Amino acid sequence: MKNKSERFIYIKNHDVTTIIINHEYSRSYEPMEKAVKTDFFSMDRRTFLKVVGAIGASAFLGLHQTEITKALELSKTKIIWLHGAECTGCSESFIDAANPDVVQAINKLSVEIVYHETLLAQQGIFVNGSPANTSELNSEMLLDEAIEEGGYVLVVEGSIPNGPEGSGKYLMIGERTFKEIFGKAAQNAAFIVAVGACAAYGGITCGDSDIVDLTDFRGVAFQKEDPSKGMLKELNIDKPVINIAGCPAHPDWVMLTLAAAILGKIDVNSLDGVVDEYNRPLVFFPAGNTMHDNCPRRGYYDTGRLDTDFAGPQCLLKVGCKGPYTRSDCGLRKWNGGVSMCTQAGSPCISCCEPGFPDSASPFYQMPEGQPLMASASAGTIAKVGAGVAALGVTAHAARRIVFNKDEEKKQE
Ligand code: SF4
Ligand code: SF4
Repeated sequence: MKNKSERFIYIKNHDVTTIIINHEYSRSYEPMEKAVKTDFFSMDRRTFLKVVGAIGASAFLGLHQTEITKALELSKTKIIWLHGAECTGCSESFIDAANPDVVQAINKLSVEIVYHETLLAQQGIFVNGSPANTSELNSEMLLDEAIEEGGYVLVVEGSIPNGPEGSGKYLMIGERTFKEIFGKAAQNAAFIVAVGACAAYGGITCGDSDIVDLTDFRGVAFQKEDPSKGMLKELNIDKPVINIAGCPAHPDWVMLTLAAAILGKIDVNSLDGVVDEYNRPLVFFPAGNTMHDNCPRRGYYDTGRLDTDFAGPQCLLKVGCKGPYTRSDCGLRKWNGGVSMCTQAGSPCISCCEPGFPDSASPFYQMPEGQPLMASASAGTIAKVGAGVAALGVTAHAARRIVFNKDEEKKQE
């Protein structure tokens, strides 16, 4: 399947003919009925944020397709999607979105992805033996032309190496560093969406190692929790940035953030109250909630029934689950078209949405030692939890039950 410019090939063809609202209603959100009946263009920003939080990308884009198309008929939005140091997992997650698939979403939003290395048709320096010296055939020229035109949304996937010694040479694309390409693209962008843990905070590429200082990978606006070490600061560029955390980022988070920003439902120049202190949209990473709040295993936690090994049905806290320390709506939204999610599938939450990931969640499969299980606090990161602050939204009742069960276990030993 091709997009309108016929520059891209799309390798999957999800045959989606119906729009399904497949997310559970949670006490945290407005009733679904209200969301469905709300007129899209008369929504205020607050309602919009609640609606996109309550329903999936499919339902949102499906419900408002006519209005969206009408609104964007005359003003197509261009997207440049760059890949830095990464595994392409976020693109994979994005194009695997089932309801709607990426082609449907692009059409509904009337956007044109002018550059995306993974989806771009084959190009090179030579094509069929002849020099590829037009932007039709040479992706470097295509990108330069698109940047020159300006006014696009820049999506960044992957971190930006600054090393060695600020040269950025640990990632070369053709004859240029990715640092240089990113800087050029950022300068002319209307705003930037950093997709996934690596682009947002450095992610896996910033994980502790003997060479981490040498490679010096940076997120767009942060390095881990530190906003003074974002690549934009390094390059002295001031642009609005929205961080879609996650390893990978959930396709709903990406699509709905792009939809909200492109449709003007989020004022990217005034993000107060829309994003948290790490630039994550509050609607998906709510400040007062954690993944743990909507976990399918929460009932076991509340009654103090904790698995001590994998493959059991109970709470995974003791095998390292960091759900209580992680802001995300995974338990509510779920993954793979709303089918399942980490703890439902048997894996502890490894806190991939927190800026300190992966170090702040390591070792993944061990319960943090020497920490109180809970306290009243506003923990944003596991690092803070490590300093003695504990889980959000956990009831004193549950705390007592877990402490009680721990005491019981000790007695039995
Ligand atoms: S600790 Fe983890 S597995 Fe247990 S209820 Fe919370 S999020 Fe779910
Ligand atoms: S449940 Fe935890 S580890 Fe899994 S995607 Fe959500 S935040 Fe990441």
